[in-house]
Amino acid sequence: MSTIREDDFIQSIADAFQFISYYHPSDYISALTEAYEREESPAAKDAMAQILVNSRMCAEGHRPICQDTGIAVVFLKIGMNVQWETAQSVQELVDEGVRRAYLDVDNVLRASILSDPAGARKNTKDNAPAVVHMEVVPGNTVDVIVAAKGGGSENKSKFVMLNPGDNIVDWVIETVPSMGAGWCPPGILGLGIGGTPEKAMLLAKSAIMDPIDIHELKARGPSSTAEKLRLELYEKVNALGIGAQGLGGLTTVLDVKVRDYPTHAASKPVAMIPNCAATRHAHFVLDGTGPVELTPPSLDDWPEISLAGGAGARRVDLNSLSKQEVVTWQAGDQILLSGKLLTGRDAAHKRLVDMIAAGDDLPVDFSNRFIYYVGPVDPVRDEVVGPAGPTTSTRMDKYTEPLLAKTGLIGMVGKSERGPTAIASIGKHGAVYCIAVGGAAYLVSKAIRSAKVLAFPELGMEAIYEFDVKDMPVTVAVDARGNSVHNSGPAEWRAKIGKIPVASA
Ligand code: SF4
Repeated sequence: MSTIREDDFIQSIADAFQFISYYHPSDYISALTEAYEREESPAAKDAMAQILVNSRMCAEGHRPICQDTGIAVVFLKIGMNVQWETAQSVQELVDEGVRRAYLDVDNVLRASILSDPAGARKNTKDNAPAVVHMEVVPGNTVDVIVAAKGGGSENKSKFVMLNPGDNIVDWVIETVPSMGAGWCPPGILGLGIGGTPEKAMLLAKSAIMDPIDIHELKARGPSSTAEKLRLELYEKVNALGIGAQGLGGLTTVLDVKVRDYPTHAASKPVAMIPNCAATRHAHFVLDGTGPVELTPPSLDDWPEISLAGGAGARRVDLNSLSKQEVVTWQAGDQILLSGKLLTGRDAAHKRLVDMIAAGDDLPVDFSNRFIYYVGPVDPVRDEVVGPAGPTTSTRMDKYTEPLLAKTGLIGMVGKSERGPTAIASIGKHGAVYCIAVGGAAYLVSKAIRSAKVLAFPELGMEAIYEFDVKDMPVTVAVDARGNSVHNSGPAEWRAKIGKIPVASA
């Protein structure tokens, strides 16, 4: 019998969420380093370099890897011989740990959780509640896994009820390209197969908490259906050529995890959940002797990489930029942005478009300006702004036409691909869409020299800011002729890898 004290448990949860906000798991770093060294696509290699440099900076500076510090997910295996010294429920204890972690003044994390999701969508301000999964097992310890899952990767989760005779590999290979790059590859795919729909989802989520070990599996060979599937999917998903950030390249996944469970004779439930460039999880065991002490990784775990520093990139002054200049940019061009950059994401876009529809004056002049889709972390100490990486741009697609048509906006910066209607609007108005690297948020924030709120301060991290940036690295993803690197890059690399036919357009 062991006794878990209330504060030991809460503090352990809090410490673990702080820990994973700035330390990537070392298996992710070594797998990404290996993929970086092998990568032949210059754009994908540069994106991986930025993710690795960002990761090291976060480990040194104890600041979040990504501006989306995630929804808190906790898996608990509670020993049947464990006693709790508390009057609170386990959910309440976990939530208190999450609050402590996310409100820590030394490394404040972004509160992204909204109550009343179908209605008012009101921020809970402390990132609680967590999503807690509990099992009761033999023993006298509490086994804990904490994970912080970003919205971009959670939003790409998939579930299908296949017919018993359907092929799971075919479904995955059809489905992964439809997920775009909003889940910030390279990452890990988790598959849950069998049980019932909710069991399959849980299997997929728990599978991505396992360490990356596909190379060990390759070396020893598969000994089960699940292991055979892992190897086949690892090879075939990478042969799709999607690459880091969807730019086209050799590595889309660093591992594929598969967990299965017996199912009904009539059913073949399959769930798939990705883990992104901000893969964040930690595993520890409490035995009643006190709170956990997680061991920090050694900085030697990170490779020595220096970024090209913009070699070959074009320097652009945002303060004197015109439409005539942006129409000369080509998809794939690397640009270093300096000057005044507006920000805005979902809530600000909705308000702007509602104001345009109502004929109201806008609070900001967008003529010849660029807007950056971002919701930064609050700053600490002498920071101008906290980690400030791009958010998924497709969520802004439906607002793009009115903004380009009515405001004089000439450029956007975000993450991953644009949909067909946004690409058509960009082409029609001679505008441009650029990407920054998702999962390199702290690195991006170092290019921001000042930040002030211009409009909608009540929206918090969703307010419209004006950043003054210096040499912020971006890549032209959709040019003024409507060419998209997220279409051309993966097609080029799929053909080069040559294992999966490329459909002609
Ligand atoms: S790396 Fe991408 S998907 Fe992951 S949390 Fe950050 S923005 Fe979201």
